[in-house]
This record gives sequence, structure tokens and C-alpha cells, in this order.
Amino acid sequence: MKLVIVESPTKAKTISQFLGSGFKVESSYGHVRDLPEKKLGVDTEKNFEPQYVILPKAKKRVAELKSAAKKSEKVILATDTDREGEAISWHLINALGLEKKPYERIVFHEITKSAIEAALAAPREIDMRLVDAQQARRILDRLVGYKLSPFLWKKVARGLSAGRVQSVAVRLVVEREREVLSFKPEEFHTILAKFLKNTFEFSAQLIKIGKDKLEKFSIMTDAEAQKIVADLKNSDWNVESIIKKEMRRQPLAPFTTSTLQQTAFSKFGFGAKQTMVIAQQLYETGFITYMRTDSFNLSGESIAAAFKEIEKIFGKKYLLANPRIFKTKSKSAQEAHEAVRPTEPDRNPDSLKDKLTPQQFKLYDLIWRRFLATQMPTAIFEATAADISTEGKSKENYIFRATGNVLKFDGFLKVYPMKTAETELPELLENEELKLKELKSEQHFTEPPARYNEASLIKALEEHGIGRPSTYAPTMATIQARRYVLKDEQKRLRPTDIGILVNDLLVKHFPKVVDIEFTARMEEDLDDIADGKKKWQPVIKEFWVPFKENLDKKSEELSKEKIAIEKTELKCPLCEKDLIIRMSRYGKFYACTGFPACKYTAPLDPKERGEQEELGPCSKCETGRIVRRRTKKGRTFWGCSNWPKCDWASWQNPVVKKENQKE
Ligand SMILES: [Zn+2]
Ligand SMILES: [Zn+2]
Repeated sequence: MKLVIVESPTKAKTISQFLGSGFKVESSYGHVRDLPEKKLGVDTEKNFEPQYVILPKAKKRVAELKSAAKKSEKVILATDTDREGEAISWHLINALGLEKKPYERIVFHEITKSAIEAALAAPREIDMRLVDAQQARRILDRLVGYKLSPFLWKKVARGLSAGRVQSVAVRLVVEREREVLSFKPEEFHTILAKFLKNTFEFSAQLIKIGKDKLEKFSIMTDAEAQKIVADLKNSDWNVESIIKKEMRRQPLAPFTTSTLQQTAFSKFGFGAKQTMVIAQQLYETGFITYMRTDSFNLSGESIAAAFKEIEKIFGKKYLLANPRIFKTKSKSAQEAHEAVRPTEPDRNPDSLKDKLTPQQFKLYDLIWRRFLATQMPTAIFEATAADISTEGKSKENYIFRATGNVLKFDGFLKVYPMKTAETELPELLENEELKLKELKSEQHFTEPPARYNEASLIKALEEHGIGRPSTYAPTMATIQARRYVLKDEQKRLRPTDIGILVNDLLVKHFPKVVDIEFTARMEEDLDDIADGKKKWQPVIKEFWVPFKENLDKKSEELSKEKIAIEKTELKCPLCEKDLIIRMSRYGKFYACTGFPACKYTAPLDPKERGEQEELGPCSKCETGRIVRRRTKKGRTFWGCSNWPKCDWASWQNPVVKKENQKE
């Protein structure tokens, strides 16, 4: 009997359906071996040798797999087809002691009968280049995380962490926030003319005065705009020219990990992590191809199947003469994956409604549509630009432009609807005189750049060359779990106080760790390791030596006072010593310089402190104010600011109490 090992029980179940009785399929339940949790686990003196340990949660599983391997004639490692999957297989060989046992590594991009059979027919060795690329990422992240985090604990606040890619992501969010906050809106005006032809109303915008084409800021003030409107009173309006153009819209490329995450966010509000969980379920149950990819490739069979399906559903009119090919931007050719697509294009989403959860259905439907759209014709629009001319009282010539955009052939939009700005114009003739209905100016202000959400931050990371299909979702999750960045009600990402402080600290003192280009180059180095163009140890050494040197220097140079403590003018209400602002992982707070003798602390936010509630003076001592406090267990109560000199306290909000008594 042959033992097939995969990393997940769902995947094991799906694969076992395709294999005969000569196979047993078992799951490793993820990684079985990793760096130890309690210590660095990397020997920086000995060429960065990693000290892997069997993970505590995997000990039992490893023993079970070991005995299953002993009973089998051959072990087949069928973990996922990327660096992470290759590393899991390699760790399994070591953990199970398979070195002397005949084993095979097989890979496939989709869990279908034909793909599994093809993979079994073409086994290969472990690809150490992929394993090394994964090890290098793991070790780099470990060195940064385990060295920089304790530095932050000592210098800022306990419980903080820094990471390689995550810190760059936080930096982007912090910098965007500053752009937004420092943004000064600029005023500009547009002039709009509304016309009526028969019963059809349409509008045109002023684009030219005399020989001068209008720019965005050509009309800066309302006074300037009103002058133009006044000049145009009682003018005659004539159609000067009509230009019609055919515009084509291409379908988007098939999904990669990052575009799938972005689109699922904008269409369904799914977070990146959520999308990956659902996509993995769809992959492991055989509905879609592997979900971690940056490739646009589509297999020939899948394209042929798409053509069949398109003809069946939409007819010949929607067939292309030749397959449409999308060129992959990613450079790592060794991992020539496919794009994310349905494994069987003829599996119409509607036929799967009761087989999939509502969320799985949504994502499958999206992937299926996007894939079919790639092999459907371009959409054709007819764009019209009608220039309307008039002369003002000042004898100046004014040109207004009306634009129309009408869909002539929907093409791929039939299966993958997208927002299209369609506006219709009435039939117009050159030299036709038009009847003005209304002439007005509109005031506008320039808008600040939009804050990032998960989708646009992933897009930015990808554009900067930071992160890879396997890292986008974990990065999004980490920066929020660390509370460096939080989502607001509109799911926009905002940096927290502590996020800003840690970012500024890293930018100032560890510029390389948060340098966008440096991090992007590091990702390229990892790709080069995967391609066999570089060895992993020199890549790490090149980073480690200057990093360690700088870390040692900064550890001595910087004191906590300089980084994380701000002076204030305030006095402690308990002991009258100076109050300072300190930092915890949850943000800034007031603390007493009398610490540890005096343990007074208060939130920075006046609302949280209860100060804006105007709770009034203390009725007992008459010199103190009533303040909102919290017991050690977190229950809110009201007390006197003169405590412990005055012991007035109440469980009830005194303001509410007074109002109740009035009744
Ligand atoms: Zn004090
Ligand atoms: Zn009092």
C-alpha cells in the first residue's frame, strides 16, 4: 500500500475519492516542524543554521504518520504546490525519518481526478530551491521579529512586535494618514449648460474660452465663475461639431491571489483572510485551482472548456476567434502556476447552490465569471463628443462639450458585469441651434487621497513589489491583531497612536527594516533563491550583519524617556508630582512620575476620562470634581478627584441620579 500525505484533512478526503484501494491518504494538519517558539532557534554564528523542532501540537500526528509510513511500501508527499507546501514535505521527510524510505513528491494545481493521475505519473524529488526560499523567509522574519520586538518592549511598551513586511505595510498606512490630515482642499469651479432637445435633457461643460483650453484650476473663485455666467446671458447656442468614436473595453486578467482578495473585498466586503479561507475550502474540495498564485496562465484544456461553455450559454456571437492570452508580470518562473479558475468551467455556479455555503457560492460564482470573461469578446461602446459654441457679450467665444457613452455590444460584460458610466445624448446635427435650459456654475474642492482599505493596501503592496501571494492575507491580519492599524466603520485602515509611534521609531532608527525598496529587493532575493540563482545563507547574512550592528548601537543609544515619554504641565491629583504621557500597546495614557509609589493613571481621551461629562463638584469636600473611575475588575464608578483625601464615591452616575430625583 502507498501512503499519500497532504497537509489538510479536507484535501485528504477529496484526493482519496480519486485513488484506488492501493492508496491511503493522511493529513499532517499543517506544518509539523518549525523554529522553536521560546527561543530564536537560528544560530547566527554558524551560517544561520535553523534549529527546527517538532511542533508540540504535531507530536502525536508525527508518531501516527511514522507508523503508517513504516507499514507502507512507499510514501507520496502531495502537499501544496508552492514554497510553503514544498517546505512542509521536506520537514515531513525529516520528521518521519523518510530519508531511507522510498518517497516521491508530486504536485498539482487542482484537485481533480485527471490532475492527480497526471501528478502520480510524474513524481519528482524535493525541490530544495523552493524549500530554501521558504526557509530564508522564515529565518529573516524570525531574526527581525525576535530581535526587534524585545527592543520595542524595552524602549516603548511591552507586548509590541515588529516584522519585516508588516512594518512596511504599517508605514504605508501611517504615511497615507498624514497625507490625509495635512491635505488642504483647493477650490475650483466648473460651468455647466443644460439643454433641452424635444423632451431630452442633457448637459455640457465649458472646456474652452477663446483659444484657451480650461484646466482644472482655470476658474478658482465664485466671482470668476459668475462673471462668465453673466457674460453668457442671452447667448445663442450652436452645435459646432460632433465626433463619434468606438471605444473597446477589455476583460480583466484572470484572478491571482491579490486581485481575488481585492475584488472579493470590493464586491462582498470579505477581508483578505476570509477570502483565503473560503478559497482554500473551494480548492481543497476540488472546485477551483490553487489559490496562492501570481500567474495569469490558463491551461489549454481550461480554455477549450471555457469556449464550449461560452457557446453553450451565450451562443456563437460571444466566441473569440483565438484564445486570449494574458502575460504574467511576476518573474518567478519556477513556480509557473495557473491563475485562480474553476477546475471544471462547465460547472455552472447555479448548479452548485446547494453544494456550497452562501459565501463559497459567492466566491465561486465570482471566479467562474471572471474566468469565462477572459475568453469573451471586448465590450464595445460608442462615445460621442458634441462641442457646442456660443459668443458672450464680451465677444469672447465659449466652447461647451457634451459627452455620451452608449454600450453597443456587451461582450464579456454579459458574464462579468462592471460599472460603466453610460450617458445618452439625443441625436444632434452639426450647426443645429440648441435651446438653453439652464446655465450655472458649480463649486468643487479637491479631495484628499483615500485612506487604504485591505483591498487597496494589498494593491499598493503588490505594486511596490512587497509581499507575495502567500503573505498578503497574513500581513493584513497581523497589523490589525497587533493594533497598529484598526478598521473604522467604513473598513478603512487607520493607524493607532502606538502604530504611529512604532512606525516613526523604526523609520528613524531602523530605516532599512521599513524601507520599501529594500523590502522589495529582499522579496526578489527570495525569488532568486527559489529560482536557484542565489543561495539563502548569503542573502540572510547581507541583511543580518548591518541589522545587528545597528540594533546593538540603538540599544545603547536610545533611552525609553527619549522615545516613549512625553512631559506635560499637569500635576498628579493624588500626590501632586508631575504627570507624564506614557505608551502602552493600547495607546497613550497619563501616568504619575511618582510611580511605583503612586499608581495614578488616566486615559488621554477626555471623554474616556469622563471630563467632558461635566459631572460637577464633589458634594462632600466641595473642592474636588466628580470623575469617572474604574475598579480593578473594570466596573465603572464615580469618585472624587481629591481621593484619597476625600472618599466620596458612587456606583451611579451622579448627573443621571440628580435628574431622576427631580421627577
Ligand atoms: Zn501621583
Ligand atoms: Zn470630594
